[in-house]
Amino acid sequence: MLKIDNLHASVAGKEILKGLSLEVNAGEVHAIMGPNGAGKSTLGNILAGRDGYEVTAGSITFDGKDLLELEPEERAAAGVFLAFQYPVEIPGVNNTYFLRAAFNAQRKARGEEELDSMQFLKRVREKLAVLHLKDELLHRGVNEGFSGGEKKRNEIFQMALLEPKLAILDETDSGLDIDALKAVADGVNAQRSPERAFLVITHYQRLLDYIKPDVVHVLADGRIVETGGPELALELEAHGYDWIRQRIGPEA
Ligand code: ADP
Ligand code: MG
Ligand code: MG
Repeated sequence: MLKIDNLHASVAGKEILKGLSLEVNAGEVHAIMGPNGAGKSTLGNILAGRDGYEVTAGSITFDGKDLLELEPEERAAAGVFLAFQYPVEIPGVNNTYFLRAAFNAQRKARGEEELDSMQFLKRVREKLAVLHLKDELLHRGVNEGFSGGEKKRNEIFQMALLEPKLAILDETDSGLDIDALKAVADGVNAQRSPERAFLVITHYQRLLDYIKPDVVHVLADGRIVETGGPELALELEAHGYDWIRQRIGPEA
């Protein structure tokens, strides 16, 4: 589904990704772990097509298409979803309205019929039942006054509505208490399917107790320096990132 080959990318003239390669098949959950500043969020942002990143070499193929040729909206329409590390608040903009706008923008870009508010509400009800989101949150401003956990649940809810092919979660666990963490993980687990892949970016192993990854990668100094199974996350947790630095040499 996703093939990243020798990706080099810069931010503000500084090279951040330095030859990153990664392959993800449909149905798989890949965790990307790594020290702060390694380039994890940069990778997520580049996949989503955010501004401010310059790809200087390498390629990204998604579902047989050259992802780097697509505009951010086209990527979303093609099924790429990025959940923010820090969800934005949009006071005064009704959350349901916002979700429907995002939902219909995606359908429109796919050449599909938009849903009216009744049809959309029916869809929302179905997803609410699966995710146990309080429907009170739908009537407030986007993330307005939401707790950290509520913001993350709202994002997972948005993801459930959009039904992406590739969902990228960037430190969706940061700052969550254990109940919110479990709720986020339940939401993700409920959406695992043979057609869908997840890239779960996380600094800590904790989230991976609840979202069992198929593959774990370590991103350090702009490259994937180790790939393994779930046990790799446990080894990292036990030994810390210095352990990786010692194994791969001083350049990390
Ligand atoms: P991670 O998510 O692994 O902690 P990031 O991808 O956020 O790492 O950042 C990687 C490096 O890129 C860091 O050194 C960071 O300071 C730098 N960086 C990221 N975004 C910007 C930006 N907009 N301007 C300048 N430097 C940036
Ligand atoms: Mg960071
Ligand atoms: Mg980050």
